[in-house]
Amino acid sequence: MDLHNIETYLRPSSLEAVQDWKQGWAWLAGGTWLFSEPQPALNTLVDLEPLDWSAIEVREDYLAIGATCTFSQLLDYPWLPEWQATSAFKRAVSALAASFKVTHLATIGGNLCLALAVGVMAPLMVLLDAIYEIWSPSAPPRLIAAKDFQLGVQKTALQTGEVLRRVLIPQTSLYWSTSVQRFGIAATDPALSLVMAAHDSTSSQTRISLGACVAAPCLLEFSGFPIHEQVVAATRSLNWLQDARASAIYRQHITEVLIARALEELRK
Ligand SMILES: Cc1cc2nc3c(=O)[nH]c(=O)nc-3n(C[C@H](O)[C@H](O)[C@H](O)COP(=O)(O)OP(=O)(O)OC[C@H]3O[C@@H](n4cnc5c(N)ncnc54)[C@H](O)[C@@H]3O)c2cc1C
Repeated sequence: MDLHNIETYLRPSSLEAVQDWKQGWAWLAGGTWLFSEPQPALNTLVDLEPLDWSAIEVREDYLAIGATCTFSQLLDYPWLPEWQATSAFKRAVSALAASFKVTHLATIGGNLCLALAVGVMAPLMVLLDAIYEIWSPSAPPRLIAAKDFQLGVQKTALQTGEVLRRVLIPQTSLYWSTSVQRFGIAATDPALSLVMAAHDSTSSQTRISLGACVAAPCLLEFSGFPIHEQVVAATRSLNWLQDARASAIYRQHITEVLIARALEELRK
């Protein structure tokens, strides 16, 4: 849709060119959410595209995913077969309640910074123990753990004018086996619960990351495969989301079912 209140569109060639960040400014990534509904609070869009950030880089210890990497680029990359956790990228993108038009243009950074409860990338990056690199036009870069980034529904740890530059995933995480489970009223409906689980056969650690059923991704960690009672104990005190689509109790029950399915898949 046209955004009639946007007065200025900036295409900076470097981040330093973006000075004096003002109220009403927003970074523009794929634009799939920004242009999907009215944005009455905004007057300026600052396009990230001219910054020409690389999409995917394999570094010595980390996989670096640029914030402007699109879902399509993530899916099309020729991943090493032994990096079995990369199969979770495809399964996470499949869990989106969005059309191919969105998945073609939407970026990893846009998905993380939008911070919807149903966001698919946030629980995945928490699962894989990722770190986010945050840049600012007026301060040195800083790092933040993925699990500390999303604070609630559409709330993140980003300060005014800060931009998510890249996601760093430890290469060791890429060897984990993973499972992604989703439940929604329909495939095209936003998820009621997302469960992403990983097992590291070297350390016998199991990680479970929850999304859609809670306001911000929640990580559960176990030594070995947890039994049902351990899962129930770990999830008992969570603040489950409740809305017109599902009660908190329903989301809790569905999440326990999805966790059982994920653990079953990981054990195979
Ligand atoms: C019909 C529809 C259904 C959807 N369903 C789902 C779903 O089920 N699950 C799900 O996960 N998502 C869903 N989405 C959201 C979709 O994935 C987002 O539109 C997308 O992830 C946003 O990415 P983008 O690159 O287009 O961001 P934009 O629309 O460009 O930006 C989104 C927000 O993030 C900010 N931003 C973008 N990049 C950065 C950055 N690098 N640093 C700081 N701030 C930044 C922008 O200022 C803006 O506030 C849906 C969207 C639509 C339109």
